[in-house]
Amino acid sequence: MRAMVFEGVGRPLRMVERHPVPQPGPGQLLLKVRACGVCRTDLHLLDGEVPIEHPPRILGHQIVGSVLSDPRSVDRPRVGVPWLGWTCGECEYCRTERENLCRRARFTGRDIDGGMAEYAVADERYCFPIPDGYPDAQAAPLLCAGLIGYRALRMCGTARRLGLYGFGAAAHILTQAACEQGREVYAFTREGDSAAQAFARELGVVWAGHSGQAPPRELDAAIVFAPDGSLVVRALQVLAAGGVVVCGGIHMSDIPSFPYSSLWKERVVRSVANLTRRDAEEFLALAPRVPVVTRVSSYPLEAAARALEDLRAGRFTGAAVIVP
Ligand SMILES: [Zn+2]
Ligand SMILES: [Zn+2]
Repeated sequence: MRAMVFEGVGRPLRMVERHPVPQPGPGQLLLKVRACGVCRTDLHLLDGEVPIEHPPRILGHQIVGSVLSDPRSVDRPRVGVPWLGWTCGECEYCRTERENLCRRARFTGRDIDGGMAEYAVADERYCFPIPDGYPDAQAAPLLCAGLIGYRALRMCGTARRLGLYGFGAAAHILTQAACEQGREVYAFTREGDSAAQAFARELGVVWAGHSGQAPPRELDAAIVFAPDGSLVVRALQVLAAGGVVVCGGIHMSDIPSFPYSSLWKERVVRSVANLTRRDAEEFLALAPRVPVVTRVSSYPLEAAARALEDLRAGRFTGAAVIVP
């Protein structure tokens, strides 16, 4: 099969031919990859900010695939595979419904070969039916941008006025879910990114501006998706008493120091890590009810490196998806 492989930090992804096609072990499914979403985490992996212990590795953790190996596959011809690829089921986190923090967790496209290939093997416990009505490419961004975005939204509790810093794949999905829940969404983009601001307004935000601006009202919660630690401080400065700032990414530049008065009055800063199966089940049920519509730019497998650089440079709105 053809696969785009990470070989080391500072080296470009390389197309390789692998033989034979990977074989599923007990409890695993063999998938023909139909689409695989690109995520900012892939850039952190590429840049070494999130280390890959055992290269070479096939990246890609938003896999939509057809099940090839399972006789039951007539019932679930199409499944999605997210970032969380395996958990131990035994540690204190797994035993307390916090498998996202499992001490021995393995992640798709980091510890397990991912979806930037023609075929992939996945633990069937972490394969989720894709809701009907979503074409393959449109479904892929639901699996990380959607799921982890949804988990971040859950951490915002009942916040009515919600700020989103960084208006990419996750924010464009979350805006639709949050508006449907009756929240007011405030979108913060890079300075001068009028395309992303216009896109945000199209999706129903009540205000869009750049991250140095103050919104017209104090926010009850903010989610920071952009990997820029200074945004945590900015978000605190526009947060109402009792509000929360949720850091939604796996890596961020250092957070600058800030006066205690920005945190005083029960403001909270927290991160969100990975996902649980419950997040996946809940969000994949919610998405078609909203309905969440994703905007995607599709790239062939051999253009995966270009898709990643377009993501870095902010050259598209919405999400990028590899279609092998
Ligand atoms: Zn991701
Ligand atoms: Zn565990």
